[in-house]
Amino acid sequence: ALRPLAGTVALVTGASSGIGEGTALALAALGASVTVAARRTGRLDALVETIEGTGGRALAVTADITDERQADATVARAVETFGRLDVVVANAGVMLLGPLAGADTTEWRRMIELNTLGLMYTAHAAVPHLLDSAAHGPRQVADLVLVSSTAGRQVRDGSGAYNASKYAVTAFGEALRRELTRRHVRTSLVEPGAVETELPEHNRPEIQQRMRERYSTMERLTPADVADAIAFVVTRPRHTAVNEILIRPTEQQ
Ligand code: NDP
Repeated sequence: ALRPLAGTVALVTGASSGIGEGTALALAALGASVTVAARRTGRLDALVETIEGTGGRALAVTADITDERQADATVARAVETFGRLDVVVANAGVMLLGPLAGADTTEWRRMIELNTLGLMYTAHAAVPHLLDSAAHGPRQVADLVLVSSTAGRQVRDGSGAYNASKYAVTAFGEALRRELTRRHVRTSLVEPGAVETELPEHNRPEIQQRMRERYSTMERLTPADVADAIAFVVTRPRHTAVNEILIRPTEQQ
């Protein structure tokens, strides 16, 4: 089918920029009604306008998903508005780099509270609806895509706390996959290498400078490249589960 997600309902967290924004556009182009969530309302409203402008359906929900009540409310809004939930992409994340020794531990908290706990809250709120979709929905299968990172599989110098927050996602995702797969909820890990987004901009200036130097020698992935991988995962036939996609820029070691 040209629009394999026609009639389905999707939710993307962290959709106000980068990978989440690209994924929301891709899922909408495949026919899904998409709820887009993040803190920056203006960016979400613009995205909804873009999707609606191309004939799609979308809803913006302003939420800080480090707050479990807001994560719950986001999922509830999606289900109230579109009647169901078939595809969830838990993508919101932050990457703050630097040595562990002497680190500012507020940075650790920001990463664990968003990358790990925020993602777990999103999954927790979504799972009952995904089970319902798998049992009674149009496709008889549902998808939970967890956006991790190469940092969820490979430790690098200067990214220890980010690694910790993403390795936890790998463990959580595999446990959830085992728990739900026989009921046709597919849990998938998507692990990108360097992608051209706003992610580096939350770092201290000296860290940003080092990242710019590293990226200057490499053609990075675009959000659309990662959105393509996610679109592949969520459009497989019911009997096929893509458990994991590790996707790097060709020039990244
Ligand atoms: P961006 O900074 O462009 O996107 C991050 C998104 O998360 C934004 O939409 C942001 O929106 C949202 N977000 C941040 N804090 C919160 C919060 N408390 N509640 C809800 N939403 C929040 O970066 P990317 O697109 O690169 O990052 C997306 C994911 O991809 C992250 O999980 C990241 O770890 C992962 N990733 C990125 C890679 C890269 O090289 N760029 C590589 C591998 C993985 P807002 O500020 O409006 O809330």
